[in-house]
Amino acid sequence: MRYRPFGASGMTVSAITLRLSDQSRLRANEWRALIFTAIENGINSFQIDGVSPALLQGAAEAFASIERHLLFLTWQVRDEAEQLTRDVVDTMTASAFDELGLDYLDLVLLNDPLGPELTPSASTALRALHERRVVRGLGVASRGEVHPSLLNSGLVTALSSPFNLSSGWAERNRVRAAIVKDLAVIGEDFWPQALRDTNSKPAFQKPSLWRRRNDPLADVGGYEFLTGTQGWSAEDICLGYALTEPSLSTVRITADTKAEVERLAAVVERDLPNGVCAQIEMARFSAQERERADGRH
Ligand code: C2E
Ligand code: C2E
Repeated sequence: MRYRPFGASGMTVSAITLRLSDQSRLRANEWRALIFTAIENGINSFQIDGVSPALLQGAAEAFASIERHLLFLTWQVRDEAEQLTRDVVDTMTASAFDELGLDYLDLVLLNDPLGPELTPSASTALRALHERRVVRGLGVASRGEVHPSLLNSGLVTALSSPFNLSSGWAERNRVRAAIVKDLAVIGEDFWPQALRDTNSKPAFQKPSLWRRRNDPLADVGGYEFLTGTQGWSAEDICLGYALTEPSLSTVRITADTKAEVERLAAVVERDLPNGVCAQIEMARFSAQERERADGRH
């Protein structure tokens, strides 16, 4: 495993973060075993994105066996931002502190309120938790531009954003701009749906015959290398790529079997083959040119 600083928090987190969600319908002992496997593979960062009793019980048991300061634990609040009230914050703290048996959270992750501020009651409650150091940092999960007033409010310490092979300029700039503001960045969606579909059908069509003759994309390849690289699955390549982005503190993965956790953790130790890096650059260049051409016409 490799470790990276988490923004200005002073904490060091594993290059991948395991997301624990209700969608994985595991029993408590299975959750515990999954988290142990992650820890054995060097993962110290977990995102709790579910509230099922089995998840909370299994996670509580696993976390209790490790010294707390070695773990980086994030709680994801799924409620829509306008419904984020003091009650929602109280429910979160009750689950995190009573059911998970924690005395503090490293990060609370909220959905982007898509405006300059959180509701006043949530904001007051979160500030109070932050002052008592029971919530060490606050992150915003967004797929767009977070309002600058919110970023400058002194509350927000991290950004969670999609980042993958098919990310365009806007996403890349957003991630890099966050670093300038001393925010930690969590990369999500390293293997986006569009690239998953390349297994069954090409998501990015090869340039067709009716394109202009001087089309810069005419002979640039697509993403076929995702399925044609020996020893690397498409998912591994996509994760390997996200891990090359230095602005990301950690890349979030979702996995519900031990084998998956082990396989993804092993990717962190491997360097992408040089040939693949070149093909990624070509495919990205071609996508960028397409973006630009679409903008012109
Ligand atoms: P919402 O759940 O109220 O989320 C509002 C905004 O918060 C989202 O706007 C997005 O910018 C941010 N956000 C929420 N969750 C996440 C997350 O896990 N990661 C990141 N990076 N950002 C997040 P957006 O993307 O325009 O979505 C608008 C609405 O569309 C969402 O409102 C939700 O109702 C729905 N939606 C979008 N993506 C998904 C999804 O993957 N699953 C589900 N169930 N609903 C989705
Ligand atoms: P899910 O709703 O089952 O979605 C699984 C994956 O499908 C998402 O992974 C995302 O890659 C894709 N997806 C689903 N709906 C949308 C959509 O409306 N827009 C886009 N761009 N992609 C979509 P992801 O992003 O890692 O999210 C994982 C899970 O987190 C989602 O599972 C959902 O339970 C939750 N989630 C993510 N974003 C949002 C959001 O904006 N609002 C809410 N309420 N939940 C979200």
